[in-house]
Amino acid sequence: MSVRPLLVATRNEGKLRELRQLLDGTGLHLETLASHPESADVLESGATFDENARIKAAAAARATKLWTIADDSGLEVDVLGGEPGVRSARYAGVHGDDAANTAKLLRELEGKTDRRARFVCAMALARPDGEIVAAAHGVCEGTIAAAPRGQGGFGYDPVFVPLVLPEATMAELDRPDKNAVSHRGQALRAFLPVLRAHLPEIR
Ligand code: IMP
Repeated sequence: MSVRPLLVATRNEGKLRELRQLLDGTGLHLETLASHPESADVLESGATFDENARIKAAAAARATKLWTIADDSGLEVDVLGGEPGVRSARYAGVHGDDAANTAKLLRELEGKTDRRARFVCAMALARPDGEIVAAAHGVCEGTIAAAPRGQGGFGYDPVFVPLVLPEATMAELDRPDKNAVSHRGQALRAFLPVLRAHLPEIR
């Protein structure tokens, strides 16, 4: 059966790989911004993950006339007052420089014993006219390791140890294990019934 495409409004390859696996088996045909040059990058001007997810989903849907999901996510560190938060992707100055962001985080935490942190993910679903019809979020609690470990995932994964799997950093987990515990996996699982309600042809 042919299904409507669903646009994933991100240029982050790490997020895309995870979302592809999480949506595997739904029969959805996922499209990405790479094949939609008409959708320009938007300024993530929101003060919260939820606002930014809504901004990204609405803008990409309006530009492409496709059903669109967007994910806005990041890391909150307690002893840093919730930083890097919505600035996670550009914490060290250059958008998407994972190594620099992680190095800056470890510098900020030097000598600190309170290493509590959480990954947060907000997701929004927009209709082809840009109207937001659903939102969901997920949280993964954990701590920041003393040094990076592991090759998997992206972003801050090499220094994030999830509370539920305290032996490994997120970057040492394989993708199914990361998706099982991650903020993105939780948000997407909360989102699936809503996706099914709006796109009834998906499995
Ligand atoms: P966004 O594209 O504005 O949502 O920025 C997300 C940023 O948050 C990424 O560039 C990473 O730095 C961080 N981040 C979000 N989710 C994850 C994750 O699952 N693992 C590691 N870092 C993440």
